[in-house]
Amino acid sequence: MSPEPKAAPARDETLRQAMLRHLREGPLTARELSGLIGIREREVPAHLEHLQRSLRRTSERLQVEPAECLSCGYLFADRKRLTRPGACPRCRAQRIAAPVFSICQA
Ligand SMILES: [Zn+2]
Repeated sequence: MSPEPKAAPARDETLRQAMLRHLREGPLTARELSGLIGIREREVPAHLEHLQRSLRRTSERLQVEPAECLSCGYLFADRKRLTRPGACPRCRAQRIAAPVFSICQA
């Protein structure tokens, strides 16, 4: 039996290149990115984390404008994960503005 061809990494690479291209053009949320490149919104953060790591070797960085509670204004500034938080730790509200991603020079 021959091993299965490994198609997934190449596709992932193309996805991340497309993400990078869109992010260079302006700030985007995970939802906007998902629409632009045709993947699910919940798949976006994992790709962004990979992109963030691979950019360390370059002069570009993934810039994250933190999520914000729309009820009390709490900023999720220390959050490491790139997903949208479910609820505010200060007031428990669930209306949270998603983090916004862009590319900047290091
Ligand atoms: Zn809040």
